Amino acid sequence: MTRVFNFSAGPAALPEPVLREAAEEMLDWHGSGMSVMEMSHRGKEFIAIAAEAEALLRQLLAVPANYKVLFMQGGAIAENAIVPMNLLRGKAGIDFIDTGEWSRKSIKEAKKYAKVNVAASAEASGYTTVPPRAEWKLDPAAAYVHICSNETIGGVQYHFTPEVGGVPLVADMSSDILSRPVQVAKFGCIYAGAQKNIGPAGLTIVIVHEGLLGQPHPLLPSAFDYKTVADNDSMYNTPPTYAIYIAGLVFKWLEAQGGLPAMEAHNRAKAALLYDYLETTAFYQAPVARDCRSWMNVPFKLKDQTLDAAFLKGAEAAGMVQLKGHRSVGGMRASIYNAMPIEGVRTLVAYMKDFEAKHG
Ligand SMILES: *Cc1c(COP(=O)(O)O)cnc(C)c1O
Repeated sequence: MTRVFNFSAGPAALPEPVLREAAEEMLDWHGSGMSVMEMSHRGKEFIAIAAEAEALLRQLLAVPANYKVLFMQGGAIAENAIVPMNLLRGKAGIDFIDTGEWSRKSIKEAKKYAKVNVAASAEASGYTTVPPRAEWKLDPAAAYVHICSNETIGGVQYHFTPEVGGVPLVADMSSDILSRPVQVAKFGCIYAGAQKNIGPAGLTIVIVHEGLLGQPHPLLPSAFDYKTVADNDSMYNTPPTYAIYIAGLVFKWLEAQGGLPAMEAHNRAKAALLYDYLETTAFYQAPVARDCRSWMNVPFKLKDQTLDAAFLKGAEAAGMVQLKGHRSVGGMRASIYNAMPIEGVRTLVAYMKDFEAKHG
């Protein structure tokens, strides 16, 4: 068996010990005689699995007691509608900070439900920055302020938590949740699809302040009503059971690594290896402003784009896959989430140097 270094933006690499544990437990989970996939979500075994996953997630992120942790479905794209339908609470408008493709998707969907105010946009920079907080034109009457903490496609990440006064802050953290500690209490709601930095596709995590619940849009489907989901311990309908189980194993693995402070150090070190190298060469170019560079998704371009295909082919031959950039931006993108070992980044940088020596 050979495993590659998988730089996919999502669904993305999982920690190998997690996959091994899941493989061992595949046919018989803890003497139950069943695979987790075969369990009733109302049975005592799965209830214990889900409760442990929630407890571990709460511990990792130090989630305050007055926040609900919800295991949902539909991904972050569904949340782009589910969030306004839950959190608009009869108010008229939402403030958005536009930092790229994922912000724009959130904005477009929210327009179906609310008056959208783009309080700041990085469009003029070609989406290579986060607009400085001082430039945001927030509306104090807004239902909430929405940010995308890490733009997975553009590789732009917040390295600060914005203060937004008394208005709840909502973040799409799909591609950087659990990559570093965050102060959950500064947010009204955090949501994330699991398939970037947590586990299998199909699970969506929502962490929401309980004071925001209970005023849903009248047409909000019950299965997406945060209060209904919370009141039923995320089992109002059948949750994505296997994905919750794998997420729980990932949470346990994160604890064993030293929790989120250790993940931050690990992710900073990986990102520094790659960005520091990109600074030393003109053969490759990193488009994002230095203080907004993502530790999770590192886009870069070969100066001579006619070499792109050869670069990707050589990388694949050397055991590195999924380095092609998103179709909307071109070039390359290395996604280096929690599960990417530093050895993978070292191998990539060595390959990039070697490729430059041959073609530069
Ligand atoms: C991947 C991603 C999404 C889309 O998630 P789906 O699971 O496809 O709905 C949304 N926002 C961000 C920041 C992402 O990285």
